[in-house]
Amino acid sequence: MKFADLGLSDELLKSVSTAGYDEPTAIQAQAIPSVLMMRDLIGIAQTGTGKTASFVLPMIDILAHGRRRARMPRSLILEPTRELAAQVAENFENYGSNHDLKMALLIGGVQMGDQVKALDEGVDVLIATPGRLMDLFERGKILLTGCDLLVIDEADRMLDMGFIPDIEHICTKLPTNRQTLLFSATMPPPIKKLADKFLSNPKTIEV
Ligand code: AMP
Repeated sequence: MKFADLGLSDELLKSVSTAGYDEPTAIQAQAIPSVLMMRDLIGIAQTGTGKTASFVLPMIDILAHGRRRARMPRSLILEPTRELAAQVAENFENYGSNHDLKMALLIGGVQMGDQVKALDEGVDVLIATPGRLMDLFERGKILLTGCDLLVIDEADRMLDMGFIPDIEHICTKLPTNRQTLLFSATMPPPIKKLADKFLSNPKTIEV
């Protein structure tokens, strides 16, 4: 399988070759075409399998070719920890360097001021930990009604950290006709239940 066969745009293929990737990993080969076809997805994959690019690359293409909505984020990536959120943000910036997309990294442990400023200026993508996202949402600083692509990454770690109620709450604030991607290294019953509740006819990929 080649990156050129997955349906990504030429700009994204350039980013992939700039990153030095020769071939897609197993999760990328299976996930990217499905995400581009707007399907919900359950990806059972560990860190290190290339799963970040499997959602970030098609997300950039979807955002780049969709209609821009002023001051309203269109995609949300939820991560269990600040470190993971920061890593995904770095990936997003690298792969998206050929695109004019704005991102806000919403994590705890830093002052809210800069995050609120970024939100006010208008962003396309939110990369967030559930606690800080809920906090900003409850203060009325974020509109989630235009967010029609949601990624719940590392769902089993979210469970270990007690974030499932927050995630359920966040899911109810997004449009119901959204696309949802859930990644987890394992599928314990509470994650299966979450997927049953918030994903619609998902394709399951296990690597
Ligand atoms: P992840 O599982 O998303 O944390 O990715 C693990 C590492 O693999 C990261 O350092 C990526 O830069 C790298 N990576 C992702 N996709 C590919 C690929 N297709 N070929 C080579 N390396 C990759």
